[in-house]
Amino acid sequence: MTDRADVIVIGGGIVGTSTAFFLRRRKRSVILIERGLTGQQASGVNFGGVRRQGRALSQLAMSNRALDIWYRAQSLLGEDVEFLPSGHTRVCYHAHDAEYFHRYAAEARAYGLDLEVLDGAALFRRFPFLGREVLAASISPRDGHANPRLAAPAFGRAAARLGANLVENADIVRVEKEAGGFRVQSATGAVWRAEQVLICAGAWAGALSAQFGEPVPLVTRGPQMAVTEPVPYRFMHSMGVYTSIKEESVYFRQIPRGNLVLGGGAPGPADALTRRASVLPGNTVQQIAQFRRLVPALAPLHVIRVWSGVESYLPDSEPVIGPSSTTDGLFYAFGFSGSGFQIGPGVGETLAELLDAGSTDIPLEPFSIARFGRTASAASVHVQTASEA
Ligand SMILES: Cc1cc2nc3c(=O)[nH]c(=O)nc-3n(C[C@H](O)[C@H](O)[C@H](O)COP(=O)(O)OP(=O)(O)OC[C@H]3O[C@@H](n4cnc5c(N)ncnc54)[C@H](O)[C@@H]3O)c2cc1C
Repeated sequence: MTDRADVIVIGGGIVGTSTAFFLRRRKRSVILIERGLTGQQASGVNFGGVRRQGRALSQLAMSNRALDIWYRAQSLLGEDVEFLPSGHTRVCYHAHDAEYFHRYAAEARAYGLDLEVLDGAALFRRFPFLGREVLAASISPRDGHANPRLAAPAFGRAAARLGANLVENADIVRVEKEAGGFRVQSATGAVWRAEQVLICAGAWAGALSAQFGEPVPLVTRGPQMAVTEPVPYRFMHSMGVYTSIKEESVYFRQIPRGNLVLGGGAPGPADALTRRASVLPGNTVQQIAQFRRLVPALAPLHVIRVWSGVESYLPDSEPVIGPSSTTDGLFYAFGFSGSGFQIGPGVGETLAELLDAGSTDIPLEPFSIARFGRTASAASVHVQTASEA
C-alpha cells in the first residue's frame, strides 16, 4: 500500500469512515488511519438513535442529508447496518415542554423536518402504553435507529473495497504542514503524506488541532446505556422523554431480537487518556425508575448489561466541521456532543464534497473552529485534556 494519497483521514469513527467512503466514490485517493479498530470508540458503542428532531436548526440540512444516506445504507455499503425507519417520538411531562414541541415543529418545517404533535386522547390512542403523566408527543415518522456496532466498520470496509488504504492500530501523534501538503506521523514513527488532511479523531481531536494553533474547549463525558432481557417485539418507535430536568430524561428503542436498549439521565465520567467511560450504578437505578414512569407495563424487565463510551462535548453543543482557520488543506470534524451518530454519514458526504470540489451547499459557518479563538498553546491543551479525563 502506498504511503501517499490525496487525502489522509485521521480517526475511523462514523465520520472518518464515511468521509473515506464518499471520497473514494469521487475517485480521490485516501488513507484512513485509526488508532485502534474502526468504530471502536463512540461510534461503535452509542445508543443507535438516528434522530433528527430536537437538533439545533443549524444542523438540520446536514441531518437530512444523513438520513437519506441511512435509507440507502444497505445498497451503498453492500451490508446491512440494521437501520430501521421506525419513526422517533419525543414525549414530555411539562406544559412548557409541550409548548416548545409546537414551536420547534413550526420552525423545523422550514428546514424539511415534518413533525406531528399529539396530546390528550389522541396521544393515548396512538401510544396506549405510555404512562398517564405524559402530556404531549412529537412524532418524526421518518427517523429511526440503527446498529452502532455495524455502521462505522461497514463504511470502513466499503471504503477499502473502493480502494481506500485503511490503516488500523496506528496512533497519530504529529501532523505537520510541509511543501506540497502534509506529513502525518504515528507513535511508532511510520509516516504518510497527503495534500489534504481531515482530523476527525473524536474526543482526542483537540491534541491534533492544537498543533495548528487551534485549541478547542473539548470535554469528555459518558452517556449511560443499559439493555434489558428480550421480550416480544412490540415497540417499533424509538422514543425518549424531552425535559429540562436532566434526571427525568430516558430514551429507548427495541430491536427485533426483543431487547430494549435504554439511555438517558446525567452522563458519567469518561477518561480520554485511558479511553474508558463508566456507568454509575445510581444513574442506572434512576434511568430504570424513569423508564417505568414512561412505560409502566415494562416495569418487570431486568437490565442484563450496562455500558458507556467516551464522547466529546463542546460548550455550545455544536460540532466543529469545516476548514482550519490557520492552515490551507486542513479540515476538522469532531465534538458532536452526544449526537454524531445520526449526522455522521451526512458529515462524511459533505466533507468529501468540500475537500474534492472546494465548496458545499450545506451551511458550515455555525460549525467553524474559529469560534473558539486561537489562544491556548498546544501544551496547555494537553494539560486540559488530562484534567478533564
Ligand atoms: C454511549 C453513547 C451514546 C450515544 N448515543 C447517540 C445516539 O443515539 N445518536 C447519535 O446521533 N449520537 C449518539 N452518540 C454520539 C455519537 O456516538 C458520536 O457523536 C459519534 O459517534 C462521533 O463520531 P466520530 O467519528 O466523530 O468519533 P469517534 O467514534 O470517537 O471516532 C474517532 C476515532 O478517532 C480515533 N482516534 C483518536 N485519536 C486518534 C489518533 N491520534 N490517531 C488515530 N486515530 C485516532 C479513535 O480511536 C476513534 O475511533 C452517543 C455517544 C455515546 C458515547
